[in-house]
Amino acid sequence: SQLCVTLLCEWVLIDCVCIVCASIFRLLSIDTEFQTLRLKAEDSSGRQHVLTVKLKSKHPAEAPECSADLPIPLVITWTPQSTLDQLHSQFLLLLESLTEFWDVLDEIDSKTWILEPEKPSRSDTTRRIAIGNNVSIKVQVDPRHPKMLPECCLLGAEHVVTPLRNKLNANMQLWNPDSSVLHNLRDVLEIEFPSPATHEKSSFSVECGICYSYRLEAAIPDQVCNDPRCGQPFHQACLYEWLRALPSSRQSFSIVFGECPYCSKVRVHLALTDRRQ
Ligand SMILES: [Zn+2]
Ligand SMILES: [Zn+2]
Repeated sequence: SQLCVTLLCEWVLIDCVCIVCASIFRLLSIDTEFQTLRLKAEDSSGRQHVLTVKLKSKHPAEAPECSADLPIPLVITWTPQSTLDQLHSQFLLLLESLTEFWDVLDEIDSKTWILEPEKPSRSDTTRRIAIGNNVSIKVQVDPRHPKMLPECCLLGAEHVVTPLRNKLNANMQLWNPDSSVLHNLRDVLEIEFPSPATHEKSSFSVECGICYSYRLEAAIPDQVCNDPRCGQPFHQACLYEWLRALPSSRQSFSIVFGECPYCSKVRVHLALTDRRQ
């Protein structure tokens, strides 16, 4: 009703004035029904975050619906006596618990070339980092233990990936949780990652040898010919269609073996993901 909207409006505005004066947070936007608010928050490292609060019809008896771009679930404690200010404080505490996680990823994002995701959001925990032409490492950082050894997966042609995988296994015990993930990855793999300071991104974004594009929907070419002189990358979907059409291809469990469309050597094996099995 009109009265409710007026009351709500007043409540929101009072809260805002008080909060703005205390410069705790800023209201970014509010919809015309005064139902959805977007609150701005800054963590101690200066990163900007937004908390979206949808007020329910029985507000404040009913807890508002909150959402934010986070790698962990947003759990908010709410009572009918709670205020927006308290909600915001809870959000700030949660942000502080994730500072180390974002520090780790910000360092990786600024000092390496990220192949995937194309535009990482604050909730993304994985990064596919370019190591060289057609070789990359996919790491999954645990938001709760961001400096521990992340889950790693090396991607690329066998002759490049095998020595790196051996180093990773041999040096794993050198992982130092006091050091950053990027620093540890350098030490463990015994490599320097190509960075925006040293390389152009175009040297790592080689298009698929079948469809001649880089992005196919969200996918990038992550399958490569294992012949050291070829190394042509392909999209998984393109290579699957190609191999399926060849009578000489064979499939063993979830792996398809066949001839590379480029060098015609039986050097391509495609590990099918769940989607295609
Ligand atoms: Zn393709
Ligand atoms: Zn080839």
